[in-house]
Amino acid sequence: MNFRSCWLWAACCAASAGDAMPAKEPHPVPTQAIERLRQGNETFQAGSIDTMRAVVIRRAQVAAGQHPIAAVLSCADSRVPPELVFNQGLGDIFVVRTAGAVPDQAVLGSLEYAVEHLHVPVVLVMGHLSCGAVKAAMETPPPVKPDPAGLNLERILMAIRPSLKQLPVQGDRWENAVYATVEQNIADVVRLSPVLAQAGRSGHVTFLGAVYELESGKVNFSAPVVFRPRPGHLAAPATASLEGRK
Ligand SMILES: [Zn+2]
Repeated sequence: MNFRSCWLWAACCAASAGDAMPAKEPHPVPTQAIERLRQGNETFQAGSIDTMRAVVIRRAQVAAGQHPIAAVLSCADSRVPPELVFNQGLGDIFVVRTAGAVPDQAVLGSLEYAVEHLHVPVVLVMGHLSCGAVKAAMETPPPVKPDPAGLNLERILMAIRPSLKQLPVQGDRWENAVYATVEQNIADVVRLSPVLAQAGRSGHVTFLGAVYELESGKVNFSAPVVFRPRPGHLAAPATASLEGRK
């Protein structure tokens, strides 16, 4: 998997089997779903969203079942709520959040549910500028002997640190690290989940990354990840890339 030069500057819960999709809402193709996210972010940037109106309209529509257009793995940072950032309402996006948008087993299982049972056409992994989890990973060396009391937090940093090894020398190091972490997180999602890797490879799901800018509200999307057949390998290799950003 390599989306070097692909950054474009434009722009819950797993339930029971009764969580079926209403037949009235056909799944959008990936390009349509991505365009809805992109347009939603433009609306959010313009400050013209009407959250309560969207809630009231959608609440009754989705009560019988969810039919999200995308699954979003986002950082848990309180300033980065995907539903607001993409101006999406109830039932529109299936959101999983962890600090640093790091995928663990619960995240992978949740994304697998979204892909296999809700049939989302898109999986988006979104980081954000000024991410505290990424900064902590940059500034905190791996402990020689981890403190058991801090092991859960250390696991997040451990997951982020490999993405920091080959950052470009140009530009802001923290920003570069955020982009590299998003790319690694996408690669980890498909590396650690044969189900998601197969879905991507078969074309049933489009994977892409995004980075949210806190001040402007703008989301920078990557191009969709390209899966190349590799006999004997379910997962695509990771390639961190920052060259396409302006
Ligand atoms: Zn963050």
